[in-house]
Amino acid sequence: MENLIAAFTSLTGSAPVGVWSAPGRVNLIGEHTDYNDGFCMPFALPHRVLVAAAPRTDRTWRVRSLNNGEVVTFSGEDLVPGMSGWQAYVAGVVWALGEAGHAVDGADLVLTSDVPMGAGLSSSAALECAVLTVLADLNALDIAGIDRAKLARRCENEFVGAPTGLMDQAASTLCTEGHALFFDCRSFETRQVPFDPAEAGLELLVVDTNTPHTHVDGEYAERRRSCDQAAATLGVPALRDITSDGLADALARLDDPIIQRRVRHVVTEDERVLDAVRRLEAGDVAGLAPLLDASHASMRDDFEITVPTVDLAVETARRAGAIGARMTGGGFGGCIIALVPRGEADRVADAVAAAFAEAGHAAPDRFIAAPSAGAGRIA
Ligand code: ADP
Ligand code: MG
Repeated sequence: MENLIAAFTSLTGSAPVGVWSAPGRVNLIGEHTDYNDGFCMPFALPHRVLVAAAPRTDRTWRVRSLNNGEVVTFSGEDLVPGMSGWQAYVAGVVWALGEAGHAVDGADLVLTSDVPMGAGLSSSAALECAVLTVLADLNALDIAGIDRAKLARRCENEFVGAPTGLMDQAASTLCTEGHALFFDCRSFETRQVPFDPAEAGLELLVVDTNTPHTHVDGEYAERRRSCDQAAATLGVPALRDITSDGLADALARLDDPIIQRRVRHVVTEDERVLDAVRRLEAGDVAGLAPLLDASHASMRDDFEITVPTVDLAVETARRAGAIGARMTGGGFGGCIIALVPRGEADRVADAVAAAFAEAGHAAPDRFIAAPSAGAGRIA
C-alpha cells in the first residue's frame, strides 16, 4: 500500500484521494454450468488489484500498472471497442459506464495486483471491478452490485472482446469475507453461503499447475455447441431445465454417447452445487469433499476438460492427505483446489511439486485461499 501511494505521488505530484481494491476468485464448484443457465459458487481470493486514484478535471484517464511499469493515457475519443493491450480492461470500464448513461470525469489511477495473471483466477475481472468501483465512487454513481458486475462484464465481452459469463465479475463485486457466493446464472440471483474452512479445521489449497493452455477456445466452443444441441433435442431452453430426476429419461432420448456424457456432467454438476449449498448452510464444510471429488471425475470422464497435469495434481493431492480435490476453472490447464486438514497444505503441495518434478512438468505454484471480501474502498 505504501509503495502504491508513493508511486501515485511520483506520477501525479500529489496524494491519491483514496485506495480501492477488488479480488480475483476461484470457483468452489459448478464448472461449465454458466452457459447452461445453471449454478456455480465462487469465492473471492485474498489476492487483489489495488488502485490509488484521484479525479482530473479533463476527460482524460492516465493509468500506471506497477505490474508492468507502463503508463497509458486515453481520452474520450479513444474509447473504441477492440482496443488492444491491458489498458483495454480500464478504458472498457469507462466505455461501459458511458454506454449505460454514466458520463464519468477523468482520473489518475495507479494500480498493482497480486492476482496471478492468466492462471484462471480472474485477474482481468479483478482489474475491471476495481476500476469500476473507483470510478463509481469518484463520480458518486449509485449502481447496484449486480449491475456493476454486468458493466464490468460488458467491458470484457464487448470492449476487450473476450466472451465470458458473469460469474467472475459477480464474484469480484459481490463476495463477502467468510462466504462463497451461490450464483444462479439464469436469474442472476445470488446468496451468501457461509464458508469458513479454518473454523472446520480445514484449509482450501490452490495449486496452479502452470500448464500452458492449448486448444482452449476450440474445445470451449465445441462443449457449448454440444450443450446447445442437446437442449434443442430435449426441447428445453437450457440444460439447467433437466433435473437429476429426469436425467435417465433425457439420456435415453440422446443417441450420441459423447453428447450423453456432456449432458450428464452439466446436470450432475448443477445438482452438486445445490448439494454443496445445503451442506455449507448446515455447517458441514468437510461434506464438500466428496462433491469436489465427484465434480473432478465428471469433468475428467464426462465433460473431458481435464489434462494429465491437472489429473496428476488432483490424484497426488488426495494421496497426500487432501480430503477432496478438483480442477477449478474452464479446463485444459489452470488450477486445482484441494480441501486439506489445517496445517497440511504445504505437505500436500510439496507432494504435488515432487510428482510434477518426477514427471518432468514445470513447477506448480500454491497458496492457501481464505474466502475474502469483494470490491470496495479500503483507504
Ligand atoms: P485471467 O483473468 O485468468 O488472469 P485473462 O487473460 O482474462 O486471465 O486476463 C489477464 C490480462 O489482464 C493480462 O494479460 C493483462 O492484460 C490484464 N491485467 C490483469 N491484471 C493486470 C495488472 N495488474 N496490470 C496490467 N494488466 C493486467
Ligand atoms: Mg480473465
